[in-house]
This record gives sequence, structure tokens and C-alpha cells, in this order.
Amino acid sequence: MIHHGSCYCKEIQYDIDLASSEEARTSLCHCKNCKKWTGSAFGITTKIPRSALSITHGRTVEHISDNGSGTKLYREFCGTCGSGILEYGENAGDSTYITYGSLDSPEELPPKGEFFCKFKDQWLPNIPGE
Ligand SMILES: [Zn+2]
Ligand SMILES: [Zn+2]
Repeated sequence: MIHHGSCYCKEIQYDIDLASSEEARTSLCHCKNCKKWTGSAFGITTKIPRSALSITHGRTVEHISDNGSGTKLYREFCGTCGSGILEYGENAGDSTYITYGSLDSPEELPPKGEFFCKFKDQWLPNIPGE
């Protein structure tokens, strides 16, 4: 199944080709880093095999930083509208993490887990199934 996605201004467009939704895993992350990057209460990304992703329009801008413990984090976003498209750590292997909200139909790949729950904002409920 092909999952389409784009940034806010549609300059960046991509397709994700998955044999089954089991190849993807969406998670919330409550770490400070994800809050800062997204400007939101948590990060939410969908882990996919890197080979499943094709950027079909535009070119992302890359930002590389240190996660605070010496691991490099790569984040790619639209240089025109600033929407985050994907992120991965240097140890992510063959996986990359697509920003959930950039998917055209994100509810096809609902979240299955949460990370860094000690930083989770108290007013947030747990995701279904937890
Ligand atoms: Zn854009
Ligand atoms: Zn995080």
C-alpha cells in the first residue's frame, strides 16, 4: 500500500510503499528535544524502512544536531514552509522516522507506543491500548 504525504506548502511530497501496515510503527516521544523541534506537546513519528520512502517532489533541508549524549540526530524539513518531514538518529540503521502529521492519512498508521513518558505532560491521556 502506498501512503502519500507532504509538507504544509506541498513543495515536499513523498510516497511510502509498504507491503503491510505492520512494516510501520508510529510512536509518541515526550522528550524535550521532540517538543522543541515540533513546537508541540510531543513528537509523533512513524518508523519505516528507509527503502520504502521516495521523495517525489522537492528537496528537504537537513539539520544535524547532537541529542545531548553524543548521538547525532538528523532532521529533514521543508525549506520553504518549515514543516518537519523526517528524522533519524545515527544508530537508526535501515529505518527512518516520518513525521506523522505530514502523512495525508495518518490514521492509517495509528500509534503503538510512547517514549520518554517521564517527560510526558500531565494533562495528556494515554494512547489506546496502553
Ligand atoms: Zn513546505
Ligand atoms: Zn523525542
